[in-house]
Amino acid sequence: MSDYRIVAVETHDIRFPTSLELDGSDAMNPDPDYSAAYVVLRTDDGFEGHGFAFTIGRGNDVQTAAIKALEPYVIGRDAEDLGALYKEMVWDSQLRWLGPEKGVMHMAVSAVVNALWDLKAKREGKPLWLLLGEMSPEEIVELVDFSYLSDALTRDEALAILRKGAVGKAERIARLKESGYPAYTTSPGWLGYDDDKLRRLCKEALDDGFTQIKLKVGADLEDDVRRFKVAREVCGPDFPIAIDANQRWDVGAAIRWIHALSEFGPHWVEEPTSPDDVLGHATIARAIAPIKVATGEHVQNRMIFKQMLQAGSLSYLQLDSARVGGVNENIAILLLAARFGVPVCPHAGGVGLCELVQHLSMFDFVAVAGTMEGRVIEYVDHLHEHFVDPVVIEQGRYAAPSRPGFSAEMRPESIAAHSFPDGEVWRNS
Ligand SMILES: [Mg+2]
Repeated sequence: MSDYRIVAVETHDIRFPTSLELDGSDAMNPDPDYSAAYVVLRTDDGFEGHGFAFTIGRGNDVQTAAIKALEPYVIGRDAEDLGALYKEMVWDSQLRWLGPEKGVMHMAVSAVVNALWDLKAKREGKPLWLLLGEMSPEEIVELVDFSYLSDALTRDEALAILRKGAVGKAERIARLKESGYPAYTTSPGWLGYDDDKLRRLCKEALDDGFTQIKLKVGADLEDDVRRFKVAREVCGPDFPIAIDANQRWDVGAAIRWIHALSEFGPHWVEEPTSPDDVLGHATIARAIAPIKVATGEHVQNRMIFKQMLQAGSLSYLQLDSARVGGVNENIAILLLAARFGVPVCPHAGGVGLCELVQHLSMFDFVAVAGTMEGRVIEYVDHLHEHFVDPVVIEQGRYAAPSRPGFSAEMRPESIAAHSFPDGEVWRNS
C-alpha cells in the first residue's frame, strides 16, 4: 500500500449559459447549456485529482448525484492500481443495475476514473498521454476489462498490438512534443449560425491552418444544401468537410438525405441515426459508400463499439473521453479500433472534452496505432479559458500538453461563478 490516501470527494454542478449564443446548436440539441458534473478528489498529502462528466444542462444535478454515489470506492484509497479500482466500480453489484455500463451511472464512473488518472499523472509529474505512453504493454493490459470482448479481442491479441505499438515509441514521443497532433474544427458549422457567420468562420478555419471542418446538418434539407454550398465556395472543391446529423434520422431517411448531399462530397457522415442502432449504421454505411460513416460520441461502452466494428457500421471511430468508463475503457476501445484497422478521430468540444481527449489520441499515436495517418481530433473553440491547462492549438494542430495531469482542472473562480443555481452567473439570470 502507498503512504497516502484520498480523504475527500467534492462534487460541483457547473453550468455555462451557452444557449444564449446558440454555440453548440445542432439538429438534436437546439439550445444546450454546456455543463460539467465535476468531481475533485483530495489526498491527505495535498494532491488533487479533477474529473467531470459533460452534460448539456438539465440533469446535471442527477449526474452529479451519481458521482457522489461512488464516494465509498475512493475514500481511503490511493491512485496506484487503477485497473482494479475501475473494475470494482463498474462491477458494483447494486449500482450495476442502473446500467449496466451505460448512461448516467457509467458516466459517473468515467468522471471518477478520469479524476483518479489526473491525480496519478500529477503525482508522477507527467502529462497523462506520456504517463500512459511510457507504460509497458503488460501494464497497459492490466488496465483493461476484457469482459465480453473475447470474440473480437483477447488479452493476448491486445498484448501483441501493444508490443508492435511499442516499437519506435521514443521517436513518436519526440515528434508529438515537436509538432503536436492534427485537429479539425466544428466551430463554423453550428446550426444556429447564419450564412454570413458560416462564411466568415470557414474562412477563419482555413486561415488558422485547419485541414478539415464539420457542418451540422439534419434539420432542413434545403438549408443543408445551401449551407454546404457556402462552405464549399469558401473552402474549395477538395477540402475535407464532414457533416454531423446528431442522430436525427431513421435509416431510410439517412440514406435519402445523404444521397441528396453527396454532390458536395462529405468527408464523413457523423451520427446518422441512433447510437444504439448497430445494424442500422451498417445498412447506412453500405448504402452511402464510398461516403464514410463516423460515430461514437454517444456509444455507451466497448461492447457496442465491438459490434459496430464487427458489423462494418463505421469507418471512423469517435470515442468520447467522458461517456464510457473513463481512460480504462477508452484504452479497450483504442485496442479494438487497432484490431479492426479503423482510425480513431475522437469527439470533443462541449466543456473540457478537448482538454481530455487530446491525451487519448496522443497515447494512441505513441503506443497503440503508431500513426496519425487519416486521424484528426475534433476542436471547438469554446470555454477553454476556464481551465488551468487549456488546449493549445498551433497551425491547426493540438500542441502536446506538458503540464502534469489530465488537463481536467477548472479554475476555482470559474467553478464558483458557474455553480448551479447559486453561482453569480445563474443567480442574476
Ligand atoms: Mg457530433
